[in-house]
Amino acid sequence: MTAQNNNADVIVAGAGVAGLAAAVALSQAGARVTLLERRPYIGGRAYSYEHPALEETIDSQHVVVGCCTNLLDLARQAQMAETIRWYDELTFIEANGNRSLLKPGMLPAPMHQSLSFLKAPMLNLADKAAIASGLLRFLRGYPHNDAESFASWLKRTGQTERAIKHFWEPVVVGALNDNFEHCSVKYAGKVFNESFLRSPQAGRLGIPAAPLTEFFSPIAALAERSGVEVRLKSGVEAISQNTDGRWSLRSNGAEYVADSVVLATDFRQAQSLLSTLPSTEEEKRQRQAAFVRFIPSPITTIHLWYDRDVVGLDHAVLLDTRIQWVFTKSRIRRWPVERGSYQELVISASWQELEMGREEILSSALREFENFFPAAREAKLVKTGVLKEARATFSVAPGLDRFRPQQKTQWPGLYLAGDWTATEWPSTMEGAVRSGRLAAGEVAGSRQRFMTPELPATGFMKLF
Ligand SMILES: Cc1cc2nc3c(=O)[nH]c(=O)nc-3n(C[C@H](O)[C@H](O)[C@H](O)COP(=O)(O)OP(=O)(O)OC[C@H]3O[C@@H](n4cnc5c(N)ncnc54)[C@H](O)[C@@H]3O)c2cc1C
Repeated sequence: MTAQNNNADVIVAGAGVAGLAAAVALSQAGARVTLLERRPYIGGRAYSYEHPALEETIDSQHVVVGCCTNLLDLARQAQMAETIRWYDELTFIEANGNRSLLKPGMLPAPMHQSLSFLKAPMLNLADKAAIASGLLRFLRGYPHNDAESFASWLKRTGQTERAIKHFWEPVVVGALNDNFEHCSVKYAGKVFNESFLRSPQAGRLGIPAAPLTEFFSPIAALAERSGVEVRLKSGVEAISQNTDGRWSLRSNGAEYVADSVVLATDFRQAQSLLSTLPSTEEEKRQRQAAFVRFIPSPITTIHLWYDRDVVGLDHAVLLDTRIQWVFTKSRIRRWPVERGSYQELVISASWQELEMGREEILSSALREFENFFPAAREAKLVKTGVLKEARATFSVAPGLDRFRPQQKTQWPGLYLAGDWTATEWPSTMEGAVRSGRLAAGEVAGSRQRFMTPELPATGFMKLF
């Protein structure tokens, strides 16, 4: 193949959620876009695969919330919004079987959850008072500066032990995937302000009802319909700028040339591809210093197939255990009852499990699961799987913001995308879509051009 065959206005490297979002936006705006992806499938970290021994398609459950406006807009465009199952209530379960429901009631935002919160047996009055005073601090927003850790904030605001264990921890560790020392108040506050307080709609929980690669395939189809040339198994090996200012990318023995490039890879790949571009020693040193600030954080999921439903809920938060969340995927996916049930148990920030073997993880998770759901002891466990994702997300550790690069780089025509770039969002699919759309906006000369507006505040939240 010659360079002549591979001319494009824009090349996007990486068909994760960020790259797909950038490619769709640019193509719809009239650019000739080529999307190069190293793997044989799209979706990046939001992927599913056929497990040969289990003969099942497995993934790590991803969830969205109503305030993920850009992801949901892309889903609507790709006509896949109906594959998201929406839930208004969250069930928190204690090991003694006590259940607490958090759900919106009649009161306007920000009090819409307060009636169910006041009734929740998982917290006593002192815990509830501490949480209410903590949430009040996020009414007007959250700190712009990301210097303080959430651990320090919990201490400073006098949170009780149970308020931490039964409220702050499930939400923050679930959403930001690291312990409190490694989460800044800025991003924890954002979670509470935007999804708990702003409006009932912003806080709705959405769960994809299809395996992730299938779930995201309509976006790849939308990209192709919009004119994007998608090339899988086409990892970018090198990137350079020509004397005419255009960019050349080498991939699979071919050379691709374009006016602009969006590098939508993970941060390690981006670092390695950028390291060959002309820069001063000081710029290289600064870039290196920035990249080491990104700490990957793991998620481990345990997959259990039973001959019958043993949970009776589509999903639940488990308290005082390693397992933070249980998803009954068979219910979410509306399997017929005779097909049995499929549970996924999620352990966020699973540093401990990274060091453990499959059998050890499985037996400890099963022990805990059966404590919460004794019906599991009576049912037949048909098959099991364990999936460790060592680099699931990056930690929004205090002080990270100033190291997250803007989408526009120092090299004209070269842009970055990926959940790790500067988006004001933590490591999420919404952050990834925003980064792709911001990069596309920079290519098109208007940063905000492709962004979907935020959801409006409702009730009294309109006053803030
Ligand atoms: C277990 C797990 C659970 C998660 N849970 C949630 C959740 O509940 N909700 C949520 O919103 N988010 C969740 N996330 C995070 C979410 O998956 C990511 O934030 C998002 O997918 C990141 O997308 P991205 O496009 O920025 O990066 P990536 O998904 O990393 O995509 C980068 C792409 O670039 C490709 N690539 C790399 N190098 C090259 C190269 N040289 N040439 C060409 N292509 C290249 C990669 O193959 C990949 O496809 C979870 C992640 C994991 C792993």
